[in-house]
Amino acid sequence: MKKVILVRYGEIILKGLNRGAFEDKLVNNIKKRIYSVGKFSIVKEQARIIVEPACEDYDFDGAVEKLIRIFGVVSVSIAYKIDSDINVIRKSAACLVKEMQESGSYPSFKVEAKRGDKRFPLTSPEIACDIGGYIYENCAPIEVDVHDPSLTVYIEVRKDTYIYTSKIKAFGGMPTGSNGKAMLLLSGGIDSPVAGFMIGKRGVELEGVHFYSYPYTSERAKEKVLELAEILAGYTGKFKLHIVPFTDIQLEINNKCPEELLTIIMRRVMMKMAERYARNTGCSCVVTGESIGQVASQTMQSLYVTDMVVNMPVFRPLIGMDKDEVIEIARKIGTFETSILPYEDCCTVFVAKHPKTRPQLDEVLRAEENLDNMYELIERAIENTEIVEF
Ligand code: ATP
Ligand code: MG
Repeated sequence: MKKVILVRYGEIILKGLNRGAFEDKLVNNIKKRIYSVGKFSIVKEQARIIVEPACEDYDFDGAVEKLIRIFGVVSVSIAYKIDSDINVIRKSAACLVKEMQESGSYPSFKVEAKRGDKRFPLTSPEIACDIGGYIYENCAPIEVDVHDPSLTVYIEVRKDTYIYTSKIKAFGGMPTGSNGKAMLLLSGGIDSPVAGFMIGKRGVELEGVHFYSYPYTSERAKEKVLELAEILAGYTGKFKLHIVPFTDIQLEINNKCPEELLTIIMRRVMMKMAERYARNTGCSCVVTGESIGQVASQTMQSLYVTDMVVNMPVFRPLIGMDKDEVIEIARKIGTFETSILPYEDCCTVFVAKHPKTRPQLDEVLRAEENLDNMYELIERAIENTEIVEF
């Protein structure tokens, strides 16, 4: 019995004539992401990608950890690959159940069989029945329970046959690189890493921009953002972060604009700069973690005034979500614990007591006319931007 990893993918199957290109992209992404785990070869077979280790001590768990974070992958199983011969399947299935019984208690089981190769003489229900009977007789004590078994033996009969006992869920989506590139405004909060994850999941490559206001925000605040960027890179394969010194720009806004408009003007400058980074790096949109009404700068009117400063699409995948829904995703994708570390963000350092919830575009434009040093300050910030690649 040869141990392999079965990789399932979903939406790509619906891609009609383009399906092959999406599959190739996924296979390539898999190759790039798991090569560090050990030598392997990849076989594509009827809506499955099979990873076959080519070394003795292959780190299956390490590979699975990486595979479930690759967008496009729906689930994975560590499986035994055997000949499509009913006698071989019987013996291997019993052997697998005995192996499981050695490591835990399994009072009941069922068999789920799927015949992908119609030349095989038994139908799917006949295979399940035959193998179930064999396991029942050879792995006693064990009962059949088709409704709530403690162990399920999956059998997929194709050119070869694959048997396994668990399916590990992945995140689905489309393969990274199949859908262009986006510039994510990444803060240290809960929302923006989730927003990046959601856009990334649809096959979009991500690059990020982070504004920091040292010494008003600490070194630790920056490190936290780097940590979040690294977690995102675990999904998209790579992530380049532009870290922009924002203190002088914020001080300029603070000194020259009415207090109730500080936040909205700061957000507009962030957007304008993010757009510039986007254009310079081949991104066709910017992404933020905003959702309607979360804070004063995220009312419908504020979002409108923010958008008026950019000339490319702004995607806000969390727009209709409540905070607890965002937190649920943050926990699932592993960013939550880092996001809640208690370091300041530049957005929270210079805040007005009563920011306007319905800023008017013309009053904001008038206020921005006072920012006579802004052009040079932005150029200087761009010159001093640090780039970190993951
Ligand atoms: P949270 O709301 O969980 O504190 P957040 O990341 O959503 O975190 P907000 O103040 O709500 O923070 O900011 C709205 C959006 O603006 C963020 O989702 C992010 O896209 C962007 N943003 C905020 N601060 C920064 C920053 N310092 N650098 C880059 N983008 C930022
Ligand atoms: Mg937010």
